[in-house]
Parts: sequence; C-alpha cells; structure tokens
Amino acid sequence: MYAKVIVDVPAKQTNRAFDYEVPASLSKWVEVGSRVGVPFGPRVLQGFVVELQEQTEVDAKRIKPIQNVLDLVPPLTSELVSLGRWISRMYMCHEVTALQAMLPAALKAKYERVIIVGDESEDQSFLDMPDIEAIISFVKSKESVSMDVLLEHFSKEGALIKELLSTGRLAEVQLVKDRMNAKKALTVFPPAGGQGLEEALIELPARANKQKEVLRYLIEHPHAVRLTELMETVEVGASTVKSLADRGWIELREVEVMRDPYSGRAFERTKPLLLTEEQSGVFAPIREAVAEDRHEVFLLHGVTGSGKTEVYLQSIQQCLDMGKEAIVLVPEISLTPQMVERFKGRFGDLVAVLHSRLSNGERYDEWRKITRKQVKVVIGARSAIFAPFTNIGLIIIDEEHESSYKQEESPKYHTRDVAVQRAKQQDAVVVLGSATPSLESMEKTRRRRDRPKPPFTLLTMKERVASRPMPPVTIVDMREELKQGNRSMFSRSLYKAIEERLHKKEQTVLLLNRRGYATFVMCRTCGFVSQCPHCDISLTYHQSSHALRCHYCGYAEREVKECPSCQSEHIRHFGTGTQRVEEELSKIFPGIRVIRMDVDTTTEKGSHEKWLTMFREKQADVLLGTQMVAKGLDFPDVTLVGVIAADTVLNIPDFRSAERTFQLLTQVAGRAGRHEKQGEVFVQTYTSEHYSVQYASHHDYISFANHEMDIRANLGYPPYQRLILITFSHEQVPLLVRMAEAFVTRLKEIALPYTRQQVDLFSEAVPMDSSFHFDVLGPVASPISRIKDRYRFQCVVKYRGEELASEIVGKTVAWFEERSAKEKLLISVDVDPQYLM
Ligand code: ADP
Ligand code: ZN
Ligand code: ZN
Repeated sequence: MYAKVIVDVPAKQTNRAFDYEVPASLSKWVEVGSRVGVPFGPRVLQGFVVELQEQTEVDAKRIKPIQNVLDLVPPLTSELVSLGRWISRMYMCHEVTALQAMLPAALKAKYERVIIVGDESEDQSFLDMPDIEAIISFVKSKESVSMDVLLEHFSKEGALIKELLSTGRLAEVQLVKDRMNAKKALTVFPPAGGQGLEEALIELPARANKQKEVLRYLIEHPHAVRLTELMETVEVGASTVKSLADRGWIELREVEVMRDPYSGRAFERTKPLLLTEEQSGVFAPIREAVAEDRHEVFLLHGVTGSGKTEVYLQSIQQCLDMGKEAIVLVPEISLTPQMVERFKGRFGDLVAVLHSRLSNGERYDEWRKITRKQVKVVIGARSAIFAPFTNIGLIIIDEEHESSYKQEESPKYHTRDVAVQRAKQQDAVVVLGSATPSLESMEKTRRRRDRPKPPFTLLTMKERVASRPMPPVTIVDMREELKQGNRSMFSRSLYKAIEERLHKKEQTVLLLNRRGYATFVMCRTCGFVSQCPHCDISLTYHQSSHALRCHYCGYAEREVKECPSCQSEHIRHFGTGTQRVEEELSKIFPGIRVIRMDVDTTTEKGSHEKWLTMFREKQADVLLGTQMVAKGLDFPDVTLVGVIAADTVLNIPDFRSAERTFQLLTQVAGRAGRHEKQGEVFVQTYTSEHYSVQYASHHDYISFANHEMDIRANLGYPPYQRLILITFSHEQVPLLVRMAEAFVTRLKEIALPYTRQQVDLFSEAVPMDSSFHFDVLGPVASPISRIKDRYRFQCVVKYRGEELASEIVGKTVAWFEERSAKEKLLISVDVDPQYLM
C-alpha cells in the first residue's frame, strides 16, 4: 500500500503530495487524514495522508516508508481533507496551511531529536567492552532516548558516545511528536463493591483515625474518585490515602482527564419554548430539510429580538433526533457566557465550546470530545467550522454579516463560504441568521434570469417576540447642536435621556466606534500631527500611560509638550476616545457609575465576562464601549442606547462603509427595550441625511439593501462582482513599483485568452451575470502606504465567475514568486477581501 502525503512545509516546492510506502506494521493505522512522520531529505517531517492507493509511479527502489503514525485515530477525516483541497484552490494557499488551520494548536508538529541503536552488523570488536555494552543496552531498553537523558546517565562517557554516533553504532534521528499531552490525574479505585475494606478497617491500628475515615467513606461510596476530590471531602492529606494504597487495599493510579473550561458550572436546563407564529413559519422549512437530509442554505433574516436563537435550538433538536451532529458559529465577541448558557442549558454535556480564550489544553480537550463522539453540538467562533464531525446535519452561522468570519491571515477563508462547501459535502443544512444580512447573502436569495432557483432560501421574521415594539430611534444632528452653542459631545436630548435613566435607575448603553476616531495629537498653530515613524498612520493618544502609540506596529513615544515642528505649546489631543467620553460623563453626572469596554480594558483573560456580569448585576449605570457592546447582549434593564458619533464608520474610505454603518446602528439599537420595559435610541451624527443612518432609524433593512445594491451594481462591486486584493510590500519604493507593474502586466496577459474564450463561447444571448468578466485596477499605493518600514502597493481584480479568476491569479503569482524570490518582495493575495486596506 502507498500513501500520498502532504508535508508540513508551506512552500511552493512542497505544495503537492509525495508518495510513501505504508509498512505492513502500520497499515492498520494509516488512513486518509492520519498525521504521520515521513523522511524528507535528511529530516523527518510531519505530514498528512491525503490519499491511499495500491500503486505508485515512484521507482520502488527510491520510495521511502512512513516512519510513524502520530495518532491512533486520525485527527482529520477524509471529508476535511477534501475541504482542505477546496480551500487551497479557492483562497490560493498551500494545502498544508489549510489542513493545519483545521487542527487545534496543540496538534501542531513538534520535532524532537533522539538517539537510537544504529547499525549492529559492523565492528563487532567493540562488543566486549563493558562500557559500550552498557550504553547500547541502555538505549535498546528505552528504544529511543534523548541526548540529555543519555548524557545524564553516562556522564563520564561523553567522548565514547560521540564515537559511537560517528561510527553509526548509535544514530540520531528526528521524531515528530505532539506538542500537547493529555492531562492526567491521580485517581483512587476501591475494590469492586468495596470488598475487603471492612476487614481492612479492623486490621488498622486504633489511632489510624484518618485512614479509617477514608475507608469508611469508600465503603459507602465504592466508586473511583479523583484523589484531590477525596482529600477535600474527607479532609485528609495525600499521604493518608497513599498508605492505604501501599497496603494494597485500594488502587491509586493516573487516569486521563478532560480539562473542562465549564467544570463546576451548573447550567439550568431549559425546555423548548412554544414557538410564535413567525418562528413556526421559518422553523417548518428548516425542520423539513433537516429531516430529509437535503442540502439547502437558508438565510434567516429576523429583526433583533425576533427569537432567532430559539429557532436555532429547535432546529438542532431536530438534527439530534435524526442522530446527526450540529455546528453553531457565532462571532468571537458574542461567545459570551450568556450565549453558551443558552446552548448548554438546552443540550447539556452534548455541547463542546471552542473559543480563543480557552487555553491550548482546554481547546485540545474540547476538540477531542468531538473526535470521540462524546458531544453532538459544537458552538464556537470561526475555526469551529472544522469540527471533525462525520455526520453533520446542520450548520448555523449567527450574525452571518460579521466581517470577523473572514480570516485575515492565511488561509484567508470566509467561514460562510467554507460552511456552505462543507454542508454540500455532507448533505447538511445551513442556516445563516442576521438582523442585517450581508448583501452577498441577500443577493443569493434573489431570482435572476440565468438562475431561476436562487442558491439560498430567504426566511423572514419581522416582529419581535411578544409583539414588543422596536425602539424608536431619534437622529440628532450635531451640526445643529453646535449652532445652538452646545460644544459638548452629548446633545441636549441624549443628556436629558441619560439623566432620566439615572433617576429611574434604568441602564444605558453608549457606543463609540474606535476605528477612525482614535484620539490623535495635533498642533493647533501649524497643524502638525504626530505620526508613526515606521507606518503611514497617525499615533493614538493613550491617556492612562500618557503615551502615543501606533496601532499597527506597537511603536510608542511619550506625550509631547511642545510641537516638534513649530515649537508652539498649543499641541494637544483631539477626537473622542472612549476614555474622554468616560471623563466627560463623570464630569456632567457626578457619581455616575460607568463600565468602559474597549481594547484597553479587555485584554486580560475573562475581563470581557467580568464587565458584562457587573453590568447585568446593575453595579453600573452606563456600559460604554466600542463595537463590543453592540453585539448580542441581552439586558432587561437597558432602556436607552446612545450612539455618540455615527459617522466614525461612515468616513472610512471603503465601499462597505455604508453597509457597516447600517449594521452597527441596527445592532446597537437592538440592545434597547428587549424585555418588558420600552426602549429608546439616540443616534448623534454630522451626516444625518445619509441613507444608511435614515434607513437604520426606521429599522428598514429591505429598503437599505435595495438602495445599496443599486449602488454596488452601478460600480461593479460585490455582490455583483467579486474582488481579489493583491498587496505587494518592499522597503524600496522604485523596486516595489516596478515589480507591481510587472505583475499587473503579466496578470493581464495570462487573463487574455480566458476572457477571449469566454466571449467566443457565449457570444450572444447569454445573460450579463453569467458571462466571465475580468478587470484589473492598479497598481496604486495602498491606503496605508507603509507598515513597519515596508512600503505597500496593491491591485484589485474585479471579476465574475469563481474558479477561473483564482486560477488566473494563481498562475501569475507562481510566475511572480520565481522572479521576485531574490528581492525579498512580499506578496499577499486576499480573495473576497473584507477591507481594501
Ligand atoms: P434574536 O437572537 O433574534 O435577537 P433572541 O433569540 O435573543 O432574539 O430572543 C429575544 C427574547 O425572546 C429572548 O429573551 C428569548 O428568550 C425570548 N423568546 C424567544 N422565543 C420565544 C418564544 N417562542 N416565546 C417566548 N419567549 C421567546
Ligand atoms: Zn507603526
Ligand atoms: Zn506646530
């Protein structure tokens, strides 16, 4: 048997499968998806088996055997291996990079050098030397041993060991190992039924009180128990228990335990709710598709508070009833205890949770629960889409419009597209849920001339549960405030509304988006702005440390008192950061209790949860923060939501700015009045007439989507055309420009025959949307034209027709990498970029 193996070196030369022989001794263990150690040149590398076959084209004399198998159960399934291939083609990354992305960090390769017994045939003369004999038999008894251990054992024989290595009697080899070991814990095993313990009790001397207590406890509870737990319940030390084990009455040994991030937390079990009419209406087609094992993608557009989660929960129940598994994806930021509680509350121990705040060990154990089929439901952020389930019935993506579903490093995949592909492979149902669906998904629910059956099915919930009204939204024009002489960052109406909440002891959420509104330092005399010396971006002022910091490279400098350019003293920080809002709040409302949530206050593990719990327990009047406060939170006493400046997102030069503004305003407005108390929303803005602000204030997603789609269609932007962003960077501008231009010229040359062919094939009567279209914009300097001293240029490909464009760009990149290898020029390709920066 032969295996095709992809080795763990993400490089162009190794981006293909290599053939290896499967030795008979390993044939039971090697499967598609196995991780193996294989000889590669002088080294041993980790690799993934991607195919098994009975023949090979490689010369029988040259083919090498697989050295070892790393897991008894392969960490990847053959279905995930195919998905990896799809990702590498679609997003132009190395196949091994895609496969690695599917594994928890704990399973990334670790290489270790060890000593083994080498060639025994030669040089028999040495054999009678007792020293050598001892060393060789020591290594033999251990099978393999690290250099450290060997030298420790034979500390005086360093020279001899070296000699043995150089003559080949001992050999040094590289082994591939796991980075993570299973956690073990000492566990007490009483004899079955507590047999013999009564006798032991009698045998113990009278003063051995503690030991007797332990025995009595075990007689009453004759089950295996964790040592630490036993010590705690009976209040004895470890030595007491050990002495019982030494006498052979009980057994004490290490067993593997799972690290459980939610251990000790009791989740109150919930029963399915009686669905509302709207919920039943959207649940019926989902249930039907799940029950019929039919692959279908549903876009569930439900206003905030319409009860989407209950629809998810009941759909999962249907899936479990069918004996199938479900994956639930939520944005990292909404993986709050609240969300986890809702799923654990319904499905208990059948749920595994994966998010980035888990330690590597915890993550690994949650992941192993999946491979061992101890759980049926996974809830997690982005990478949970790779949960190694083999019988998926349902994949749910909540807040499907979130840009965090796009991974920003290689492999730069979009979770939504990967989910649809994976569901196709397993005949599973996909539910994409949002109050503000992405235009990409929305477009896929629409009929087109060339597409009588749209790829996605639209389901809509227009009402909040229990007919709770949507909160009224008031737009406040801040230009008008200024005209009236109000220079504060709070409009008069928002001020009054906060005051009222303080009076009524109700809570307020205030949103300030950090992006684009970070405080920068400017000289009022000459206009000088402090900039990062390595990146083309202004430095951000951090009040707590009185420092100026670069958000791209981390460069920091002390606050200046005098303008470096004109020596004026009128240099100070501008803009409205969350810190300044907090200060202003305490100035105008003395004694107000504010919780501030932004990147600065949520770096510590668990801080996010801590703040939210404090707010829920009403230890604060105001929750002030960045986008973090906009998502998925559900607090009964929040009756006021204020947006300090709606323009912060709108002013970012990106074609999705209007869409992001609409989404953000809708989401944050959705936090108000979700329960019995009526809510109210104030949106402060300098561009009150903008359609994204207007439609958001009327909770009118459909009109917004129609308006925005028209604009996108006219400009040829997504969802009507797709984009590939290619970014080049180098320390020298002239070389950078020359190379970028060469790339674009070559790209157009390579694309030409494809476009011609398409024109010939579909010369007429083909609807516009299905014709292949390929356009290159640029190269131009990137919006952030320098990061970490590297200048940046970019070009954008606009196209219709998926795979072909990837193929064209892929070919050009391959051509380019060969030419630019010496120049240290970096190139990065982003398919379906979320930001054109
Ligand atoms: P969404 O995710 O659509 O914003 P949620 O799922 O958070 O909305 O639901 C809003 C509130 O309505 C929650 O408190 C939830 O418990 C409640 N709810 C949902 N469905 C029902 C139902 N069928 N009957 C009663 N309450 C419900
Ligand atoms: Zn910088
Ligand atoms: Zn100045």
